[in-house]
Amino acid sequence: MIDLHCHLDLYPSPRETAEICSKTMDFALSVTTTPSAWPGTSSLAANSPTIQTALGLHPQLAGQRYRETDLFETYLPDAKWIGEIGLDGAPEFRESWPQQIAVFRKILELCNAAGGRILSIHSRLAATDVLVMLRQVPNTGTAVLHWFSGSSAELQQAIALGCWFSVGSPMLRTKKGQSLVQQMPKNRVLTETDGPFTQTAGRPACPWNVAEAEQHLAHLWGMTVPELSDLLRTNLRVLRQTVPGLP
Ligand code: MN
Repeated sequence: MIDLHCHLDLYPSPRETAEICSKTMDFALSVTTTPSAWPGTSSLAANSPTIQTALGLHPQLAGQRYRETDLFETYLPDAKWIGEIGLDGAPEFRESWPQQIAVFRKILELCNAAGGRILSIHSRLAATDVLVMLRQVPNTGTAVLHWFSGSSAELQQAIALGCWFSVGSPMLRTKKGQSLVQQMPKNRVLTETDGPFTQTAGRPACPWNVAEAEQHLAHLWGMTVPELSDLLRTNLRVLRQTVPGLP
């Protein structure tokens, strides 16, 4: 099982959740929402070959935390995985749009200068803007669009730009999400939960609940779950090879 986007530090018992991940999963990417959360969240993954911690600054927090780009720069040499970053175009975050743009651009420029990273990117109601910025700052590494919810046309642009995708149950339950996933190249897709912000059976989803997304995806693609798991493990190996020196 692979969860390419979860928030380990936001569970009620992060250490226990991390331990179960290490025992039961192939891989979990533990994303953060602020640079100041990076040291503590990284410690959850210490000595775990299963969990990698991503350095992030969430677009919904950019309005309050934009000053933390300095801290982002400080930690970047040690962070090979980046997320959660990106843009959020929802009306409730419109006020912070200038800071969102400034933070996202700064992070992309830093990743470019650092030789590239793997980026887990939020693009809610802002897919076109995210793609424009990815085009403006080349060589940032490999962009993985998490929970992509743009249009088919935007999806085609993302595919042409070389983006990868991480998809979860909430997406796979809707007709629109299913249609988008059907258009994605199967060799550039991974699974995610975005837990604990999503739910499985009425409770906050844990990383191992990514099993539900695997079932949906296997069904959608007409594969067995073991066949799908093999494909996802291969995809993860290929993704890791896109950026040199990745743990
Ligand atoms: Mn998230």
